[in-house]
Amino acid sequence: MADNKKNKRNNRGNNQDDNYNPKFRKMRKKVCPLCADKNLVLDYKNADQLKKFVNDKGKILPRRATGACAKHQRDITLAVKRARQIAILPYTAE
Ligand SMILES: [Zn+2]
Repeated sequence: MADNKKNKRNNRGNNQDDNYNPKFRKMRKKVCPLCADKNLVLDYKNADQLKKFVNDKGKILPRRATGACAKHQRDITLAVKRARQIAILPYTAE
């Protein structure tokens, strides 16, 4: 019994990942979809393209979800808002 406890502690000590915290899972660095593909031009008339940046309620996804850089997130927001204005994207869906 006592041995078991000791082994457990030792195992934890030997673990390379000492500062492992399940709250902060290893996150892969997201790369901005617009920076990654230089040929990709955001078009407010292209609903299929913009749908990737809104959730099913029609809300614009935050940067932490889209992975876009600050500059391109602004472009995305502007494009989505323009698309809403010309009724390509919904302001809200239920
Ligand atoms: Zn970018």
